[in-house]
Amino acid sequence: MEIQIDQLTKVYSKDFYALKEISLSISHGMFGLLGPNGAGKSTLMRILVTLMRPTRGSIHIDGKDIHKHRKEVRKMIGYLPQDFRFFSKLKTWEFLDYSAALSGITNKKKRDEAVDQMLEEVGLYDARDRQAGKLSGGMKRRLGIAQALINDPRLIVVDEPTTGLDPDERIRFRNLLSKISGEDRIIILSTHIVADISSTCNQMALLNQGNLAYQGTPEELVNKARGSVWKVILTTPELEKVKEQHPVISTVMMEEGWEVILVADDLAGYPGEKIEPDLEHAYVHFMDRELNEYMLADF
Ligand code: ADP
Ligand code: MG
Repeated sequence: MEIQIDQLTKVYSKDFYALKEISLSISHGMFGLLGPNGAGKSTLMRILVTLMRPTRGSIHIDGKDIHKHRKEVRKMIGYLPQDFRFFSKLKTWEFLDYSAALSGITNKKKRDEAVDQMLEEVGLYDARDRQAGKLSGGMKRRLGIAQALINDPRLIVVDEPTTGLDPDERIRFRNLLSKISGEDRIIILSTHIVADISSTCNQMALLNQGNLAYQGTPEELVNKARGSVWKVILTTPELEKVKEQHPVISTVMMEEGWEVILVADDLAGYPGEKIEPDLEHAYVHFMDRELNEYMLADF
């Protein structure tokens, strides 16, 4: 399976570009779309699942234009929107049964089987008789992915599924996504949380203010930051000064002073050591460089 996005642009109002000429290709596996709030992630996903049309540009799945073949394309997509809501009165299994019927599983016996299997898969079988609207946040999100998966779609699109979950549920949800990803499936996950990507995705893109800032593997992004991430011990006044000069990733109060991790090409004057970057560091590093380039381009 292959998704080809070409020069996709979305203009919401006269001068407001939510997406600017995005070109991307996505093949099998888990694809992470990372970006801060307002980057354009949900816009891109809504266009991809054919709920919205782009202003310009196109998307092809296995060579087929998604808007020309909308009906066919929708059948192969499972979608979990960012603002997913439940019909509050339905029981968990009833909700899933309803989703299954909507997605075209008309045979009652087949539907029962699909619902039971899916409840099992997402770890909600024991909660099957509970009211869907009263499940915990993490359980709701798992029910959300269950309804997206009920028809065994080849393309799964999940928009910020880990936002608002506590750490346990977040890890559980990531593991669930890894489990369902496979050879002949694409999962596209959007998030503003770097750890969601580093623990699950083999491919990623970075969106920033409607621009595609990066596309590649998480490892390649990390490689770009190698040599520019430092750990240094600072006093409080030093920390204040350094903050003005370099992006600071973390500060921890230690007995000997602040242990600071920051991004810099050179740590002139301070006794620091270079450390091996992780994806979180690489993200800060990349965004800092991007921002500087924009600013330079303005002059
Ligand atoms: P993200 O999902 O990355 O947070 P969105 O795609 O939701 O980003 O939004 C991108 C930008 O487009 C934001 O500035 C948002 O306010 C704006 N936007 C989103 N939807 C609409 C809309 N229907 N009409 C006008 N502006 C919108
Ligand atoms: Mg969004």
